[in-house]
Amino acid sequence: MPSSLFTYAPAPESRSVVTLRPRYGLFVDGEFVEPRDGSTFTTVSPSSEEVLAEVAAAGPGDVDRAVAAAARAQRDTWGPMPGKERAKYLFRIARLMQERSRELAVLESMDNGKPIREARDVDVPLAAAHFFYYAGWADKLAYAGLGPSPRPIGVAGQIVPWNFPLLMAAWKLAPALAAGNTCVLKPAETTPLSALLLAEIVQQAGLPPGVVNVVTGAGDTGAALVAHPGVDKVAFTGSTEVGKAIQRTLAGSHKRLTLELGGKAANVVFDDAPLSQAVEGIVNGIFFNQGHVCCAGSRLLVQESIADAVVEALKARLETLRLGDPLDKNTDIGAINSPGQLAKIEELAGSGEADGATRWSPRCALPERGYWFPPTIFTGVAPAFRIAREEIFGPVLSVLTFRTPDEAVAKANNTTYGLSAGVWTEKGSRILWMAQHLRAGVVWANTFNRFDPTSPFGGYRESGFGREGGRHGLEAYLDA
Ligand code: NAP
Ligand code: MG
Repeated sequence: MPSSLFTYAPAPESRSVVTLRPRYGLFVDGEFVEPRDGSTFTTVSPSSEEVLAEVAAAGPGDVDRAVAAAARAQRDTWGPMPGKERAKYLFRIARLMQERSRELAVLESMDNGKPIREARDVDVPLAAAHFFYYAGWADKLAYAGLGPSPRPIGVAGQIVPWNFPLLMAAWKLAPALAAGNTCVLKPAETTPLSALLLAEIVQQAGLPPGVVNVVTGAGDTGAALVAHPGVDKVAFTGSTEVGKAIQRTLAGSHKRLTLELGGKAANVVFDDAPLSQAVEGIVNGIFFNQGHVCCAGSRLLVQESIADAVVEALKARLETLRLGDPLDKNTDIGAINSPGQLAKIEELAGSGEADGATRWSPRCALPERGYWFPPTIFTGVAPAFRIAREEIFGPVLSVLTFRTPDEAVAKANNTTYGLSAGVWTEKGSRILWMAQHLRAGVVWANTFNRFDPTSPFGGYRESGFGREGGRHGLEAYLDA
């Protein structure tokens, strides 16, 4: 809680912009339909445990119907359509997302638990930007570096996680559609609502039926989609464990696969770094979106000579973060997405203490209802501790130290993952040297968690393969 003289009055964003339906069907062949062989589940607001809506869970028969609709649309309408016509639909989706941005942001914050400030300023504008960007590619595929007339792959089965539900859906749909593929999207069980609102936008934009289908449900719905013989390409974002299971299912099949999996990124701070800027970057790196970020800077590697000063400045900064109602515009830290995720974070934090690291959190009152975890720092962390090796996917930072650049690189690369990394230093030559030696798909210098649709994103090793964003993002959806 802020210790300053000034306190903040509540500044809640109004929920009235969102019309929740009591019950949501599946979006198949251009219509919202009841499941044929599925069941239903509820989605709740993680900050209050309020039931938001009942949602259809697609069974194998429903997945089959969605894939069949996508295959028909690919063959008859979307595939044969000239790129410049497809582009118009994508531009229309992007503009409708902007028009309905407040509604999308409030709904995302309610269903996910993330602060409205982040949903409003990051998730929604970036999601719209992805559609704008790939709309621009739709009539220029011959210049994507894949030969003069690259062809779409067919039906894409796309599975996304709960941490950035709308943004991940946009990352998946926009390049696939621009390239002439049709899609069956499976959102995460705990955050289905923004994908269903996006389906409504797709309908509003007048896309031909079957081009985009949304099948809500849990893991089995995803597994049925992956295994369906009519799917030509699987794009998955989620945990390394499920990614490996999908890879086993697809081995030997004709299906193409890209995997965007977990991470355990190092945020490396040298003694010549601009300190207050670095502290902001560390906070953004691990406490943005409650640390539910695959590329989160969850391991702080700080040069030994400045370690005490950095940790002290970091603690002072964390005292000013406001945790609470995600719909309050002043909130910095929202709710943990689910009781399951909260239990995972608590277990790993407990292991940090048991291993002998020192645990610290700012003074902050947790709301009584909902799922919450305070921002937490562990110092005295050895590389062998679980909190230095396993992805916590929560607001927990492990602090390690180093003396030389070589040691920083060795420690940063001492992980099975390789998604992202951060470097903080005044020296340009050191930034370039570090970027060359760090085994990570993205290396940020004197910043962290920066995204742009023109820039490719993806991992090495157990963080997966394939790139999303930029020209590279088209490669997954085109055959030369
Ligand atoms: P998860 O359990 O792997 O779930 C991801 C998605 O896969 C969800 O839609 C999930 O459905 C579905 N799913 C579960 N089991 C499946 C199966 N056997 N076959 C097909 N689909 C299945 O991951 P999570 O724990 O929700 O998400 C967090 C993880 O995602 C973290 O490890 C994080 O690093 C990673 N992530 C990576 C990126 C990236 O770009 N690299 C981005 C965001 C998140 P249900 O949720 O309904 O069970
Ligand atoms: Mg929810």
